[in-house]
Amino acid sequence: MASERTLVLVGGGHSHVQVLRGFGERPEPGVRLTLVSRDLQAPYSGMLPGFIAGHYRFGECHIDLHPLATFAGATLIHDEVTGIDRAAKRLRLRNGAPLPYDLLSLDIGSTPKAEDVPGAAEHAIAVKPVDRLAERWARLVEEVRAAAAPPTLVLVGGGPAGVEMILAMQHRFRTLLGDPPERQPRFALVTRGGLLERHNRFVRAAFRRVLARRNVAVHEDAAVERVEAGCLHIANGRRITFDTALWAVQAGAAPWLAGTGLDLDAGGFVIVEETLRSTNDPCVFAAGDVASMQGHPREKAGVIAVRHGPPLAANLRRALAGEPLRPFVPQSQWLALISTGDRHAVASRGWLYAEGNWVWRVKDGIDRRFMRRFQELPPQTG
Ligand SMILES: Cc1cc2nc3c(=O)[nH]c(=O)nc-3n(C[C@H](O)[C@H](O)[C@H](O)COP(=O)(O)OP(=O)(O)OC[C@H]3O[C@@H](n4cnc5c(N)ncnc54)[C@H](O)[C@@H]3O)c2cc1C
Repeated sequence: MASERTLVLVGGGHSHVQVLRGFGERPEPGVRLTLVSRDLQAPYSGMLPGFIAGHYRFGECHIDLHPLATFAGATLIHDEVTGIDRAAKRLRLRNGAPLPYDLLSLDIGSTPKAEDVPGAAEHAIAVKPVDRLAERWARLVEEVRAAAAPPTLVLVGGGPAGVEMILAMQHRFRTLLGDPPERQPRFALVTRGGLLERHNRFVRAAFRRVLARRNVAVHEDAAVERVEAGCLHIANGRRITFDTALWAVQAGAAPWLAGTGLDLDAGGFVIVEETLRSTNDPCVFAAGDVASMQGHPREKAGVIAVRHGPPLAANLRRALAGEPLRPFVPQSQWLALISTGDRHAVASRGWLYAEGNWVWRVKDGIDRRFMRRFQELPPQTG
Protein backbone atom coordinates (compact mmCIF):
# COMPACT_ATOMS: atom_id res chain seq x y z
CA MET A 1 0.00 0.00 0.00
CA ALA A 2 1.26 3.48 -0.85
CA SER A 3 2.23 5.55 2.22
CA GLU A 4 0.06 8.41 3.38
CA ARG A 5 0.70 11.74 1.66
CA THR A 6 0.31 15.15 3.25
CA LEU A 7 -1.54 17.96 1.53
CA VAL A 8 -1.12 21.29 3.31
CA LEU A 9 -3.48 24.16 2.52
CA VAL A 10 -2.15 27.57 3.56
CA GLY A 11 -4.85 30.21 4.12
CA GLY A 12 -8.59 29.81 4.52
CA GLY A 13 -9.39 31.97 1.51
CA HIS A 14 -12.25 31.72 -0.98
CA SER A 15 -10.67 28.83 -2.94
CA HIS A 16 -9.54 26.72 -0.01
CA VAL A 17 -12.88 26.76 1.76
CA GLN A 18 -14.25 25.00 -1.32
CA VAL A 19 -11.38 22.51 -1.36
CA LEU A 20 -12.19 21.70 2.29
CA ARG A 21 -15.89 21.32 1.59
CA GLY A 22 -15.11 19.08 -1.42
CA PHE A 23 -12.67 16.85 0.50
CA GLY A 24 -15.24 16.57 3.31
CA GLU A 25 -17.88 15.36 0.86
CA ARG A 26 -15.52 12.95 -0.85
CA PRO A 27 -12.44 12.17 1.24
CA GLU A 28 -9.30 11.23 -0.63
CA PRO A 29 -8.00 7.89 0.68
CA GLY A 30 -4.40 7.91 1.89
CA VAL A 31 -4.24 11.69 2.14
CA ARG A 32 -3.58 13.59 5.35
CA LEU A 33 -5.06 17.07 5.06
CA THR A 34 -3.80 20.07 7.05
CA LEU A 35 -5.00 23.67 6.99
CA VAL A 36 -2.74 26.43 8.31
CA SER A 37 -4.51 29.71 8.76
CA ARG A 38 -3.55 32.98 10.39
CA ASP A 39 -7.22 33.62 11.12
CA LEU A 40 -9.95 31.22 12.18
CA GLN A 41 -12.86 33.26 10.84
CA ALA A 42 -12.52 33.68 7.09
CA PRO A 43 -14.30 36.77 5.80
CA TYR A 44 -16.33 36.51 2.61
CA SER A 45 -15.36 39.68 0.79
CA GLY A 46 -18.56 39.98 -1.26
CA MET A 47 -20.52 40.62 1.96
CA LEU A 48 -17.97 42.75 3.75
CA PRO A 49 -19.30 46.12 2.58
CA GLY A 50 -22.75 44.90 3.72
CA PHE A 51 -21.24 44.11 7.12
CA ILE A 52 -19.78 47.62 7.35
CA ALA A 53 -23.13 49.07 6.22
CA GLY A 54 -24.88 47.10 9.00
CA HIS A 55 -26.84 44.67 6.80
CA TYR A 56 -25.01 41.54 7.96
CA ARG A 57 -23.84 40.33 11.34
CA PHE A 58 -20.25 39.10 11.71
CA GLY A 59 -21.28 35.43 11.61
CA GLU A 60 -23.28 35.90 8.43
CA CYS A 61 -20.27 36.99 6.40
CA HIS A 62 -17.48 34.94 8.02
CA ILE A 63 -16.75 31.24 7.59
CA ASP A 64 -15.79 29.51 10.81
CA LEU A 65 -12.83 27.37 9.76
CA HIS A 66 -13.07 25.04 12.79
CA PRO A 67 -16.20 23.09 11.84
CA LEU A 68 -15.23 23.24 8.17
CA ALA A 69 -11.82 21.67 8.88
CA THR A 70 -13.46 19.06 11.08
CA PHE A 71 -15.93 18.25 8.29
CA ALA A 72 -13.02 17.92 5.86
CA GLY A 73 -11.12 15.65 8.25
CA ALA A 74 -8.32 18.24 8.24
CA THR A 75 -5.99 19.21 11.05
CA LEU A 76 -6.33 22.93 11.65
CA ILE A 77 -3.18 24.81 12.67
CA HIS A 78 -3.78 28.36 13.83
CA ASP A 79 -0.51 29.95 12.75
CA GLU A 80 1.03 32.10 10.05
CA VAL A 81 3.36 30.75 7.37
CA THR A 82 6.46 32.94 7.09
CA GLY A 83 8.45 31.01 4.50
CA ILE A 84 8.88 27.79 2.56
CA ASP A 85 11.96 25.57 2.56
CA ARG A 86 11.19 23.93 -0.78
CA ALA A 87 14.26 21.73 -0.80
CA ALA A 88 13.23 20.10 2.49
CA LYS A 89 9.49 20.48 1.69
CA ARG A 90 8.79 22.22 4.96
CA LEU A 91 6.83 25.33 5.86
CA ARG A 92 8.19 27.84 8.33
CA LEU A 93 5.58 28.96 10.82
CA ARG A 94 5.62 32.09 12.95
CA ASN A 95 5.00 30.17 16.18
CA GLY A 96 5.09 26.46 15.52
CA ALA A 97 7.69 23.90 14.45
CA PRO A 98 8.47 23.50 10.71
CA LEU A 99 5.63 21.68 8.99
CA PRO A 100 6.39 19.05 6.33
CA TYR A 101 4.28 18.66 3.21
CA ASP A 102 4.16 16.50 0.10
CA LEU A 103 1.84 18.83 -1.76
CA LEU A 104 1.24 22.47 -0.92
CA SER A 105 -1.51 24.90 -1.90
CA LEU A 106 -1.43 28.64 -1.21
CA ASP A 107 -4.60 30.77 -0.94
CA ILE A 108 -3.36 33.61 1.24
CA GLY A 109 -4.92 36.60 -0.50
CA SER A 110 -3.30 40.02 -0.86
CA THR A 111 -3.13 43.35 0.94
CA PRO A 112 -3.37 46.88 -0.45
CA LYS A 113 0.11 48.05 -1.41
CA ALA A 114 1.16 50.56 1.19
CA GLU A 115 4.93 50.18 1.08
CA ASP A 116 5.30 52.26 -2.13
CA VAL A 117 3.85 55.34 -0.45
CA PRO A 118 5.84 56.63 2.55
CA GLY A 119 3.72 56.97 5.67
CA ALA A 120 0.75 54.97 4.32
CA ALA A 121 1.39 51.91 6.47
CA GLU A 122 1.74 54.07 9.62
CA HIS A 123 -1.05 56.57 9.12
CA ALA A 124 -3.74 54.79 7.10
CA ILE A 125 -5.88 51.75 7.88
CA ALA A 126 -5.64 49.03 5.23
CA VAL A 127 -8.99 47.54 4.20
CA LYS A 128 -7.21 44.18 3.90
CA PRO A 129 -6.68 41.85 5.60
CA VAL A 130 -10.44 42.20 5.91
CA ASP A 131 -10.51 40.37 9.25
CA ARG A 132 -8.35 43.12 10.79
CA LEU A 133 -10.64 45.73 9.25
CA ALA A 134 -13.66 44.35 11.11
CA GLU A 135 -11.92 45.01 14.45
CA ARG A 136 -10.71 48.43 13.40
CA TRP A 137 -14.12 49.38 12.10
CA ALA A 138 -15.79 48.73 15.47
CA ARG A 139 -13.26 51.10 17.10
CA LEU A 140 -13.76 53.72 14.41
CA VAL A 141 -17.52 53.75 14.99
CA GLU A 142 -16.91 54.43 18.70
CA GLU A 143 -14.36 57.17 17.93
CA VAL A 144 -16.74 58.93 15.56
CA ARG A 145 -19.60 58.69 18.05
CA ALA A 146 -17.42 60.18 20.79
CA ALA A 147 -15.89 62.95 18.62
CA ALA A 148 -16.80 66.52 19.61
CA ALA A 149 -16.94 67.61 15.96
CA PRO A 150 -17.70 65.50 12.87
CA PRO A 151 -14.42 63.99 11.66
CA THR A 152 -13.21 63.74 8.06
CA LEU A 153 -12.75 60.22 6.70
CA VAL A 154 -10.80 59.76 3.50
CA LEU A 155 -10.46 56.56 1.57
CA VAL A 156 -7.66 56.09 -0.94
CA GLY A 157 -8.55 53.82 -3.86
CA GLY A 158 -11.09 54.25 -6.65
CA GLY A 159 -11.75 50.59 -7.50
CA PRO A 160 -14.90 48.65 -6.57
CA ALA A 161 -13.66 47.80 -3.06
CA GLY A 162 -12.93 51.46 -2.26
CA VAL A 163 -16.20 52.76 -3.69
CA GLU A 164 -18.27 50.09 -1.93
CA MET A 165 -16.48 50.68 1.34
CA ILE A 166 -16.92 54.43 1.48
CA LEU A 167 -20.60 54.21 0.55
CA ALA A 168 -21.12 51.47 3.13
CA MET A 169 -19.46 53.62 5.82
CA GLN A 170 -21.47 56.66 4.86
CA HIS A 171 -24.70 54.65 5.06
CA ARG A 172 -23.78 53.20 8.44
CA PHE A 173 -22.99 56.57 9.99
CA ARG A 174 -26.19 58.07 8.64
CA THR A 175 -28.12 55.24 10.30
CA LEU A 176 -26.17 55.51 13.56
CA LEU A 177 -26.00 59.28 13.94
CA GLY A 178 -29.29 60.35 12.43
CA ASP A 179 -30.03 62.70 9.59
CA PRO A 180 -28.73 66.21 10.39
CA PRO A 181 -25.82 66.65 7.96
CA GLU A 182 -23.82 68.66 10.52
CA ARG A 183 -23.53 65.53 12.70
CA GLN A 184 -22.25 63.33 9.88
CA PRO A 185 -18.55 62.71 9.21
CA ARG A 186 -17.24 64.27 6.02
CA PHE A 187 -16.20 61.73 3.40
CA ALA A 188 -13.65 61.98 0.59
CA LEU A 189 -12.55 59.38 -1.96
CA VAL A 190 -9.07 59.88 -3.43
CA THR A 191 -7.87 57.99 -6.48
CA ARG A 192 -4.75 58.07 -8.61
CA GLY A 193 -6.57 57.60 -11.91
CA GLY A 194 -10.28 57.81 -12.60
CA LEU A 195 -13.09 56.32 -10.60
CA LEU A 196 -13.84 52.63 -11.44
CA GLU A 197 -11.54 52.75 -14.44
CA ARG A 198 -12.13 49.12 -15.44
CA HIS A 199 -15.89 49.62 -15.71
CA ASN A 200 -17.99 51.10 -18.49
CA ARG A 201 -18.99 54.76 -18.61
CA PHE A 202 -22.60 54.09 -17.54
CA VAL A 203 -21.38 52.38 -14.38
CA ARG A 204 -18.91 55.18 -13.70
CA ALA A 205 -21.62 57.82 -14.24
CA ALA A 206 -23.99 55.95 -11.91
CA PHE A 207 -21.40 55.97 -9.11
CA ARG A 208 -20.51 59.62 -9.67
CA ARG A 209 -24.21 60.45 -9.20
CA VAL A 210 -24.52 58.32 -6.07
CA LEU A 211 -21.33 59.70 -4.51
CA ALA A 212 -22.40 63.30 -5.21
CA ARG A 213 -25.87 62.69 -3.77
CA ARG A 214 -24.33 61.16 -0.63
CA ASN A 215 -21.91 64.08 -0.16
CA VAL A 216 -18.75 62.09 -0.80
CA ALA A 217 -16.10 64.39 -2.31
CA VAL A 218 -14.24 62.61 -5.12
CA HIS A 219 -10.63 63.53 -6.00
CA GLU A 220 -9.64 61.83 -9.26
CA ASP A 221 -6.15 61.91 -10.82
CA ALA A 222 -4.86 62.50 -7.32
CA ALA A 223 -1.89 60.19 -6.76
CA VAL A 224 -0.96 60.13 -3.07
CA GLU A 225 2.81 60.60 -2.74
CA ARG A 226 3.14 60.66 1.00
CA VAL A 227 0.98 60.30 4.07
CA GLU A 228 1.57 62.18 7.29
CA ALA A 229 -0.56 62.11 10.42
CA GLY A 230 -3.75 63.88 9.32
CA CYS A 231 -2.61 64.79 5.79
CA LEU A 232 -2.36 63.20 2.34
CA HIS A 233 0.24 64.80 0.08
CA ILE A 234 -0.93 64.62 -3.53
CA ALA A 235 1.42 64.61 -6.56
CA ASN A 236 0.53 68.11 -7.74
CA GLY A 237 1.42 69.69 -4.39
CA ARG A 238 -2.14 69.57 -3.09
CA ARG A 239 -2.93 68.39 0.41
CA ILE A 240 -6.02 66.65 1.70
CA THR A 241 -6.48 66.66 5.45
CA PHE A 242 -8.20 63.88 7.35
CA ASP A 243 -8.98 62.48 10.78
CA THR A 244 -9.01 58.87 9.60
CA ALA A 245 -7.62 57.49 6.35
CA LEU A 246 -8.39 54.10 4.84
CA TRP A 247 -6.22 52.44 2.24
CA ALA A 248 -7.94 50.39 -0.49
CA VAL A 249 -5.50 50.58 -3.40
CA GLN A 250 -4.28 47.90 -5.80
CA ALA A 251 -3.43 44.57 -4.21
CA GLY A 252 0.15 43.67 -3.18
CA ALA A 253 1.64 40.26 -2.38
CA ALA A 254 2.97 38.89 0.92
CA PRO A 255 6.66 39.93 1.13
CA TRP A 256 7.81 36.48 2.38
CA LEU A 257 6.96 34.95 -1.02
CA ALA A 258 10.09 36.68 -2.39
CA GLY A 259 12.27 34.34 -0.35
CA THR A 260 10.64 31.10 -1.53
CA GLY A 261 12.35 30.86 -4.92
CA LEU A 262 8.96 30.32 -6.56
CA ASP A 263 8.47 32.08 -9.92
CA LEU A 264 6.79 35.40 -9.11
CA ASP A 265 5.31 38.09 -11.36
CA ALA A 266 6.28 41.77 -11.17
CA GLY A 267 3.80 42.26 -8.34
CA GLY A 268 5.33 39.44 -6.29
CA PHE A 269 2.43 36.99 -6.90
CA VAL A 270 3.04 33.29 -7.58
CA ILE A 271 3.04 32.50 -11.30
CA VAL A 272 0.91 29.45 -12.04
CA GLU A 273 0.12 27.41 -15.12
CA GLU A 274 -3.46 27.04 -16.31
CA THR A 275 -3.66 24.09 -13.90
CA LEU A 276 -3.01 26.43 -10.92
CA ARG A 277 0.35 24.72 -10.37
CA SER A 278 3.48 26.79 -9.86
CA THR A 279 5.53 27.15 -13.04
CA ASN A 280 8.72 26.08 -11.27
CA ASP A 281 7.59 23.72 -8.52
CA PRO A 282 5.24 20.81 -9.26
CA CYS A 283 4.56 20.38 -5.53
CA VAL A 284 3.12 23.87 -5.08
CA PHE A 285 -0.27 25.19 -6.20
CA ALA A 286 -1.68 28.68 -5.75
CA ALA A 287 -5.19 30.14 -6.14
CA GLY A 288 -7.11 33.33 -5.50
CA ASP A 289 -5.40 36.72 -5.27
CA VAL A 290 -1.95 35.20 -4.62
CA ALA A 291 -1.95 33.37 -7.98
CA SER A 292 -0.96 35.02 -11.24
CA MET A 293 -1.94 32.83 -14.18
CA GLN A 294 0.59 32.86 -16.98
CA GLY A 295 -0.89 34.40 -20.13
CA HIS A 296 -4.21 35.23 -18.45
CA PRO A 297 -3.80 38.31 -16.23
CA ARG A 298 -6.90 38.97 -14.13
CA GLU A 299 -8.04 41.56 -11.63
CA LYS A 300 -7.61 40.50 -8.02
CA ALA A 301 -11.22 39.72 -7.15
CA GLY A 302 -13.12 37.43 -4.85
CA VAL A 303 -15.11 36.21 -7.88
CA ILE A 304 -11.92 34.78 -9.41
CA ALA A 305 -10.82 33.24 -6.11
CA VAL A 306 -14.24 31.57 -5.83
CA ARG A 307 -13.99 30.25 -9.41
CA HIS A 308 -10.54 28.81 -8.68
CA GLY A 309 -11.95 26.59 -5.91
CA PRO A 310 -13.43 23.61 -7.81
CA PRO A 311 -10.62 23.24 -10.42
CA LEU A 312 -8.03 23.61 -7.67
CA ALA A 313 -9.67 20.81 -5.64
CA ALA A 314 -9.82 18.58 -8.72
CA ASN A 315 -6.19 19.20 -9.69
CA LEU A 316 -4.94 18.65 -6.14
CA ARG A 317 -6.67 15.24 -6.22
CA ARG A 318 -5.10 14.48 -9.61
CA ALA A 319 -1.65 15.56 -8.44
CA LEU A 320 -1.97 13.31 -5.36
CA ALA A 321 -2.98 10.41 -7.59
CA GLY A 322 -0.18 11.13 -10.07
CA GLU A 323 -2.71 11.78 -12.85
CA PRO A 324 -2.42 14.48 -15.54
CA LEU A 325 -3.80 17.86 -14.46
CA ARG A 326 -6.54 19.71 -16.35
CA PRO A 327 -6.33 23.38 -17.34
CA PHE A 328 -8.79 25.99 -16.14
CA VAL A 329 -8.88 29.54 -17.45
CA PRO A 330 -11.25 31.92 -15.66
CA GLN A 331 -13.41 34.23 -17.78
CA SER A 332 -11.87 37.57 -18.68
CA GLN A 333 -15.19 39.34 -18.08
CA TRP A 334 -17.64 38.61 -15.33
CA LEU A 335 -20.71 40.16 -13.83
CA ALA A 336 -19.69 42.51 -11.04
CA LEU A 337 -22.42 43.51 -8.60
CA ILE A 338 -21.21 46.62 -6.82
CA SER A 339 -23.26 47.85 -3.88
CA THR A 340 -23.97 51.45 -2.91
CA GLY A 341 -24.29 50.79 0.84
CA ASP A 342 -28.07 51.21 1.05
CA ARG A 343 -29.37 47.85 -0.23
CA HIS A 344 -28.98 49.08 -3.77
CA ALA A 345 -26.40 47.90 -6.31
CA VAL A 346 -25.07 48.38 -9.81
CA ALA A 347 -24.47 45.48 -12.21
CA SER A 348 -21.50 45.78 -14.57
CA ARG A 349 -20.14 43.52 -17.25
CA GLY A 350 -18.46 44.76 -20.42
CA TRP A 351 -20.94 47.35 -21.71
CA LEU A 352 -23.80 46.08 -19.62
CA TYR A 353 -25.14 48.30 -16.88
CA ALA A 354 -28.16 47.87 -14.63
CA GLU A 355 -29.02 49.45 -11.33
CA GLY A 356 -31.62 49.04 -8.62
CA ASN A 357 -32.63 47.60 -5.29
CA TRP A 358 -33.36 44.39 -7.18
CA VAL A 359 -29.67 44.16 -8.20
CA TRP A 360 -28.77 44.24 -4.50
CA ARG A 361 -31.34 41.52 -3.78
CA VAL A 362 -29.82 39.35 -6.53
CA LYS A 363 -26.33 39.93 -5.05
CA ASP A 364 -27.59 39.23 -1.54
CA GLY A 365 -29.14 35.95 -2.74
CA ILE A 366 -25.93 34.83 -4.49
CA ASP A 367 -23.77 35.75 -1.49
CA ARG A 368 -26.02 34.04 1.06
CA ARG A 369 -26.20 30.92 -1.08
CA PHE A 370 -22.38 30.78 -1.22
CA MET A 371 -22.13 31.19 2.56
CA ARG A 372 -24.76 28.52 3.30
CA ARG A 373 -22.45 25.89 1.80
CA PHE A 374 -20.01 26.49 4.65
CA GLN A 375 -22.44 27.34 7.43
CA GLU A 376 -24.76 24.37 6.92
CA LEU A 377 -22.45 21.40 6.62
CA PRO A 378 -24.04 18.03 5.94
CA PRO A 379 -23.76 15.46 8.72
CA GLN A 380 -20.71 13.26 8.29
CA THR A 381 -21.19 9.66 7.43
CA GLY A 382 -19.08 6.81 8.72
C1 LIG B 1 -13.58 45.85 1.23
C2 LIG B 1 -13.41 44.89 0.10
C3 LIG B 1 -14.51 44.53 -0.64
C4 LIG B 1 -14.35 43.65 -1.70
N1 LIG B 1 -15.46 43.33 -2.41
C5 LIG B 1 -15.35 42.45 -3.40
C6 LIG B 1 -16.52 42.05 -4.13
O1 LIG B 1 -17.63 42.49 -3.87
N2 LIG B 1 -16.36 41.16 -5.14
C7 LIG B 1 -15.13 40.65 -5.45
O2 LIG B 1 -15.05 39.83 -6.37
N3 LIG B 1 -14.01 41.00 -4.78
C8 LIG B 1 -14.09 41.88 -3.77
N4 LIG B 1 -12.95 42.24 -3.10
C9 LIG B 1 -11.66 41.60 -3.43
C10 LIG B 1 -11.56 40.32 -2.60
O3 LIG B 1 -11.51 40.64 -1.25
C11 LIG B 1 -10.31 39.47 -2.87
O4 LIG B 1 -10.10 39.35 -4.22
C12 LIG B 1 -10.52 38.08 -2.20
O5 LIG B 1 -10.65 38.20 -0.82
C13 LIG B 1 -9.37 37.16 -2.53
O6 LIG B 1 -9.63 35.91 -1.94
P1 LIG B 1 -8.45 34.95 -1.59
O7 LIG B 1 -9.07 33.61 -1.42
O8 LIG B 1 -7.37 35.09 -2.57
O9 LIG B 1 -7.86 35.47 -0.21
P2 LIG B 1 -8.54 35.92 1.15
O10 LIG B 1 -10.00 35.85 1.11
O11 LIG B 1 -7.91 37.22 1.49
O12 LIG B 1 -8.07 34.81 2.18
C14 LIG B 1 -6.73 34.64 2.54
C15 LIG B 1 -6.66 33.90 3.85
O13 LIG B 1 -5.33 33.48 4.07
C16 LIG B 1 -4.95 33.68 5.41
N5 LIG B 1 -3.53 33.99 5.38
C17 LIG B 1 -2.93 35.06 4.81
N6 LIG B 1 -1.60 34.98 4.94
C18 LIG B 1 -1.36 33.82 5.60
C19 LIG B 1 -0.17 33.18 6.03
N7 LIG B 1 1.03 33.71 5.80
N8 LIG B 1 -0.27 32.02 6.70
C20 LIG B 1 -1.49 31.46 6.94
N9 LIG B 1 -2.65 32.04 6.55
C21 LIG B 1 -2.58 33.19 5.90
C22 LIG B 1 -5.80 34.84 5.92
O14 LIG B 1 -6.08 34.64 7.28
C23 LIG B 1 -7.06 34.74 5.04
O15 LIG B 1 -8.11 34.10 5.74
C24 LIG B 1 -13.07 43.13 -2.03
C25 LIG B 1 -11.96 43.51 -1.27
C26 LIG B 1 -12.12 44.37 -0.22
C27 LIG B 1 -10.94 44.76 0.58
